[in-house]
Amino acid sequence: MKKVVIVGAGAGGGLVATKLRNKIDRESVEITVIDSYGKTEFQPSFPMVSMGLKKPAEIGVNFENLSKVGIKPMKAKVLSVNGDERIVKTDKGDVAYDDLVLSPGAKIENDKIPQSPNVGHFWDMEHALDLRKKLMSLKEGKIVIGVSSMIYKCPPVPWEMAMLLNDMYTNMGVRNKIEIKVVHWASKPMAMFGPVISNPVTEWLENADIQGNYGFEMDKIDGENRKIISKKGDEEKFDLAIMAPPHSVPDFVKNSENLLSSRGWLDANASTFRPKKYDDIYGLGDAIAPSLGIGMAGVFAHFQADTVASFVLNDIDGIYPPFPYNKVGLCASDMGSTGWISYCDFSGKIRDNSTPFPDCGVLGSGPLFKVAHSIYEKYFLGAIYGGWIR
Ligand SMILES: Cc1cc2nc3c(=O)[nH]c(=O)nc-3n(C[C@H](O)[C@H](O)[C@H](O)COP(=O)(O)OP(=O)(O)OC[C@H]3O[C@@H](n4cnc5c(N)ncnc54)[C@H](O)[C@@H]3O)c2cc1C
Repeated sequence: MKKVVIVGAGAGGGLVATKLRNKIDRESVEITVIDSYGKTEFQPSFPMVSMGLKKPAEIGVNFENLSKVGIKPMKAKVLSVNGDERIVKTDKGDVAYDDLVLSPGAKIENDKIPQSPNVGHFWDMEHALDLRKKLMSLKEGKIVIGVSSMIYKCPPVPWEMAMLLNDMYTNMGVRNKIEIKVVHWASKPMAMFGPVISNPVTEWLENADIQGNYGFEMDKIDGENRKIISKKGDEEKFDLAIMAPPHSVPDFVKNSENLLSSRGWLDANASTFRPKKYDDIYGLGDAIAPSLGIGMAGVFAHFQADTVASFVLNDIDGIYPPFPYNKVGLCASDMGSTGWISYCDFSGKIRDNSTPFPDCGVLGSGPLFKVAHSIYEKYFLGAIYGGWIR
């Protein structure tokens, strides 16, 4: 029996696993998903968890449930991959594969930001829950939302969080006592997506009285003295800082031969998703995003999963043509009392970085569009665990 091994039960790995399972018989191919966390969570809802708008159980599924759709879950930490011998080394033993799919996401370096009552974040569930207490106990003062490095999950999320906080403190009747400010390396709000996105977002932030300090690259954050210091030496004071920790490539990728790209992340070709040296290993999701020159977003992992699954199917059966990679990102944002759906085509950026921005547009905005976020949340978890994708 052929063996497909998938590392990561998140957006990329979970979707590849289900897409494969729906196309190939359980008797002919064994699909194993290895994950150290043991859960699939809809990470775009972490900000809502940090505000008490959603509970952890609403946005996550235990990955043991994969066994119900014919996929073998293995809770283990991957230590390295031996691509020459087709072996994944884990803390629970070695696992052999015929095809290997790697979607381990990014490592959140929590120890690189201060563990302080004045600093928090929502880039993982544990910290989203901790931030909830900090946000609820703040009744006046200044909240600064920032990022400690250029690369972090979901580039638009600092501004979305600012809008959500504006809404929450308005509803709590204390907005006039709370200053909200985004501190970011971009030249203006969402500048990386070009004016089609940046201009309306700038207007929304202005209307909501959300301040900004742009072109601010963080050097240090001092939790005790409540200040962020930029690389140029400028300071930004805060009462509570919501700060994305640095993100890095998972250790096992570094500890394996021939898996790192020249940019220091998981290597993957933008058409085949294979690293240079191997034709039976595929990478997708956040771990390859910096190698392709795109941001870290689940929507990229989603479309990459279609292509990766088609290549794996072709390796197994030889009858599935490769499915070309759809380089469009679609974003369904919930911003409190309003929402919007926008899209960006990253073809130019991925091909040769020939365009300054991706080609973006807004499909619609307003309170109605807010529901798109929740609809996608249900679709995402259902697609992996309910076998919706046929
Ligand atoms: C706050 C926040 C908001 C976001 N908002 C959006 C949004 O609005 N739209 C959007 O498109 N995207 C958004 N994202 C990004 C999106 O969630 C990620 O891009 C997506 O989850 C990446 O999928 P992935 O499969 O690469 O990694 P993940 O979904 O992170 O999954 C990686 C899995 O690999 C496992 N793993 C890692 N290392 C090992 C190891 N050594 N051994 C075993 N298992 C391992 C982990 O436990 C994890 O379960 C957001 C993310 C955050 C944090």
